[in-house]
Amino acid sequence: MYNIAIDGPAGAGKSTIAKQVARRNGYIYVDTGAMYRAMALFLLENQISPEEPEKISEKCREADISIVYENGEQVVLLNGRNVNGLIRTEEVSNMASASSVNGDVRKKLVELQQKLAEKSDVVMDGRDIGTCVLPNADLKIYLTASTGVRAKRRYDEMAARGEKCDIDVIKADIEERDYRDMHRDISPLKQADDAIFMDSSDMTIEEVVGKILELCAG
Ligand code: C5P
Repeated sequence: MYNIAIDGPAGAGKSTIAKQVARRNGYIYVDTGAMYRAMALFLLENQISPEEPEKISEKCREADISIVYENGEQVVLLNGRNVNGLIRTEEVSNMASASSVNGDVRKKLVELQQKLAEKSDVVMDGRDIGTCVLPNADLKIYLTASTGVRAKRRYDEMAARGEKCDIDVIKADIEERDYRDMHRDISPLKQADDAIFMDSSDMTIEEVVGKILELCAG
């Protein structure tokens, strides 16, 4: 199996790029953030707050999260229900970042991710793929961009979906999430020693994809 790991902070362009690399190579794209988001949605629906780690550890056992592919798109199923349309809100983003510090949540989702990579060629994106989920990945990329550029990208995405948003709120949320993702005890976001660093602030999607395809071929 050929495994590509792409890690980096929120809004670096990971999912757009990972999807295109997967399509061009005929691999499966695995968006691990969507799994943490589905878990966060489940916890929110059960009125659990980020400040209740014991309840999170207990309740997360009841969440059956799986992914299937429909017309080449990843669909996240939460206890059999398609939740793709519910997991991209700021509320879920913040809960995902807060609940993903929990060791039981991570253990459950990491096992699922490793199983997917064992049976298919994958491009997997997240925060701990190169460091923890797929330490032996064939290619590891650490993709980042300046905070201003990342906030603007998130703003454009949300505006395109017709959602009300404020760029300063998005920027503050991104900074808070990055801080939490980089400073948690278990599997914090960091560049793996053998990952290739890429800053996409001044690169087009096509340029980043082209560079990664070159790296796979080489
Ligand atoms: O990538 P995305 O923004 O969808 O991820 C949502 C949150 O899920 C992140 O802020 C992070 O806290 C968490 N996450 C994680 N490990 C991953 C993927 C996502 O902790 N592999």
